[in-house]
Amino acid sequence: MEHVQVLIAGGGIAGMSAAIWCERLGLSCILIEKTDRLGGQLAQIHNEIWDFPPHIYADGTNLLEELQSHKVLRSLQVRFGEALTSVDPTKRKVTTTRTAYQTDYLIVATGVSPNQIPALADCSKVLAPWFSTTAEAEAVTGMDIAVIGGGDRAAESAYNLSRYARTVHLLVRSAHMRARSQWRERLSTLPSLTILWETEVAACSERDGKAVLSLRSFRPDTPSTISVDRILPRIGVHGNVDGLDSLLGEENSRYLPADNYQQVKGTEWIYAIGDVTNGADYGSLSLAAGQAMKAVKHISLQLKEQ
Ligand SMILES: Cc1cc2nc3c(=O)[nH]c(=O)nc-3n(C[C@H](O)[C@H](O)[C@H](O)COP(=O)(O)OP(=O)(O)OC[C@H]3O[C@@H](n4cnc5c(N)ncnc54)[C@H](O)[C@@H]3O)c2cc1C
Repeated sequence: MEHVQVLIAGGGIAGMSAAIWCERLGLSCILIEKTDRLGGQLAQIHNEIWDFPPHIYADGTNLLEELQSHKVLRSLQVRFGEALTSVDPTKRKVTTTRTAYQTDYLIVATGVSPNQIPALADCSKVLAPWFSTTAEAEAVTGMDIAVIGGGDRAAESAYNLSRYARTVHLLVRSAHMRARSQWRERLSTLPSLTILWETEVAACSERDGKAVLSLRSFRPDTPSTISVDRILPRIGVHGNVDGLDSLLGEENSRYLPADNYQQVKGTEWIYAIGDVTNGADYGSLSLAAGQAMKAVKHISLQLKEQ
């Protein structure tokens, strides 16, 4: 079994920053990445990034290009197409889709994935999970759209798509939206938008090129079905924690719980950084990069003490 000092799982901003800090502090590391490219969610950011100082980036691809020219990342050995599948907390053994490693330390930086709606699993009219309502909104010009969700991203998506779509139905599961008041106010000005409160999708069928959504609602004014051209679920994200159930803690959270040094609770050698531990509310580039530094520094201090 291959021995690795620091195994980093995930090649988003968190994992890449951890690799840079390993080099900085003289630790040897290997980074495994499930897909065939670095960057993670950076590829999905089509908005300008102005909150990751000091630079302003046109979008995530622009930031990724700069990162990839970093001297450490240019020479980093990345094992693409290899995913973390399980850990044995007592033996410091990590299993991936390709092999097993004996590791001194593991840094989990596997990020998040969008939540799915089971009733839409076979529906061909569902837009891709990371569909950009800023860069790709023109694709829905003249269409009837259903956006599902009640948070900021759902509200923002409904607002952006309303500028191009013929009609937008926003399906909200509860009686009020979690979205910020600015978004709620903006939505109230849109003539093409209908909000269906306390409504869930029960089933989806397809007829005459349209998706027919069967709706479940307590409200008498909610229609039992609506017919739309495209559906955009925006119901949040979950941590990529497949195979890590034993680390999730008693609350059965969908994010890896970490302490002040990013150490996964109950372990001395596993760290969690970035969105996989921060969740949607605190998910950000700055925090992911900062946590990478903290985790690797903590590892290096532990090694000095030994
Ligand atoms: C549309 C959009 C706009 C955003 N705009 C901003 C912004 O303006 N400013 C800001 O600060 N933040 C923004 N964010 C949030 C920011 O992108 C994230 O907080 C950040 O990219 C998270 O980085 P990460 O490395 O933790 O996770 P990710 O970027 O999700 O990377 C995780 C990586 O791990 C890989 N992986 C998954 N499972 C495994 C496994 N089992 N084994 C190995 N590899 C695995 C994935 O393929 C991926 O490459 C935005 C996000 C989105 C989606």
